[in-house]
Amino acid sequence: MQKIKYKRVILKISGEALAGDNKHGIDTDTINEISNRIEKIYKMGVEVAIVVGGGNFWRGRSGVGMDRTTADYMGMLATVINALGLQDALESKGIPTRVQTAIEMRQIAEPYIRRKAVRHLEKKRVVIFACGTGNPFFSTDTTAALRAAEIDAEVILLAKKVDAVYDSDPNINPNAQKFDRLSYLDILNKELGVMDSTAASLCKDNDIPIIVFGLDNPENIVKAVLGENIGTIINK
Ligand code: UDP
Repeated sequence: MQKIKYKRVILKISGEALAGDNKHGIDTDTINEISNRIEKIYKMGVEVAIVVGGGNFWRGRSGVGMDRTTADYMGMLATVINALGLQDALESKGIPTRVQTAIEMRQIAEPYIRRKAVRHLEKKRVVIFACGTGNPFFSTDTTAALRAAEIDAEVILLAKKVDAVYDSDPNINPNAQKFDRLSYLDILNKELGVMDSTAASLCKDNDIPIIVFGLDNPENIVKAVLGENIGTIINK
């Protein structure tokens, strides 16, 4: 049995990742496939907390001409749809889960309470964090950094559609250069677009490593928790 390097992780799943090829909404095959990946590390004994995005339904910046705070609240609500979809997919596999929302909606999910979230993880429940930070002008990447710091997660697994960080878009530029490792400052200075600067600064200040990898390869997530080199690692 291989040794697990990261025993408590935050897995950040963007809304787009749940849409499959549709780019919008939730694709049930895709969400089931992602749940299979999560099941693998869950069964290895890793404590898994998930931060889910909402971009497959709505992003605050899509609301051109709208009040930004309203547009952002719409985005936060979008994350709840994804969180419930993920909860359903995981529970259909027999994995116990709890959804916690940063904006109270008690009929649907628990409110975010840090100590309860930690207790759920200790009791081997997967915790899904919805509504981002609960504040407009933030992103779910920043939420991942914040929750990771709060619950003492050892790493952020940033699941992307591309398999790593590149110096330009590999789908457009066939000569795009892949980075195996980057520092937090590289992310901040090079504006690589992998995550926003608020999220990167929070990870830097709290020394939380980030592994950027593609979810398409089913073994990637397992390799990530074992500490094997995949995708791009971002650290000091
Ligand atoms: N959002 C917010 N505050 C937060 C997290 C998210 O206002 O703390 C809003 C914001 O409008 C964002 C949307 O929710 O565009 C969806 O989140 P995000 O764009 O991070 O999702 P992803 O790109 O990961 O799917």
